[in-house]
Amino acid sequence: MARESGAPVVSVTGGEPLIHPRIGEIIERLIEEGFYIYLCTNGLLLREKLKNFEPSKRLAFTVHLDGTEEIHDEVTNREGTYEEAFAGIEEAIERGFRVTTNTTIFEGSDPQDLHRLFRRLTDVGVEGIMLAPGYSYESVEEKEQFLDRKRSREVFREILDPQKTKDFPFYNSPIFLDFLRGKRELQCTAWAAPTYTVRGWRKPCYVLADEHVSSAEELMEASLWDEYGVGNDPRCGSCMVHSGFDTASIIDSLRTPSGAVDLFKSAMPEKISTLLS
Ligand code: SF4
Repeated sequence: MARESGAPVVSVTGGEPLIHPRIGEIIERLIEEGFYIYLCTNGLLLREKLKNFEPSKRLAFTVHLDGTEEIHDEVTNREGTYEEAFAGIEEAIERGFRVTTNTTIFEGSDPQDLHRLFRRLTDVGVEGIMLAPGYSYESVEEKEQFLDRKRSREVFREILDPQKTKDFPFYNSPIFLDFLRGKRELQCTAWAAPTYTVRGWRKPCYVLADEHVSSAEELMEASLWDEYGVGNDPRCGSCMVHSGFDTASIIDSLRTPSGAVDLFKSAMPEKISTLLS
């Protein structure tokens, strides 16, 4: 399936992928086939499962953290999850693994707490910090915790205050961060980050999943994208998820030489070396 998508990078998500009894073998095989892997985890089993992996420039663990201890443990509804995830991050870095993190921003996310979290992550040496705006899936009942686009931009302007974040290794593209702050517009290109699940390829995207299809090619048809995206489907109006818009920011910047240079200059050395190797 990874081969069918044509994508060079595969994010392995869950649930919790580290629970899978053959996760080490699955990742090893994907690496052998030349893919770059981001293994997304809550970090709770990371220390225990590290023995199943070999450090590789093609493998990064992406640990999900929603705030510092009090907030993260409340979101996960379990005491001790923050410190366990951090212990996993530290041990993975110590053993030579690449580690990035992902943080979802919801209504009520506390910018000061997030700055404290990002400070600690920067100090322990994570390679990159990814930000994701929470989006109200149709199947989620508590919609009030998700941000509409106007509110998202207010919150991101606070979180991305340049004075408070200048040495944080944000992993999203700088153009996507400008989009989150409301400094530029982008149209969704979710076809560039297709999602496969046990039910098939999600059509049109990770978020909406109106149907599941057996071929990734169906997701790439231009006519499909006349129906979806901002201005085409009302459900897309507040969506800013990175699978739709971080991809768009990269495609957008590669359209002009100056955009490509800006993207290249602002990317982190680790990310550049990964892409070039
Ligand atoms: S904007 Fe794109 S990623 Fe977001 S819900 Fe619509 S199709 Fe999916």
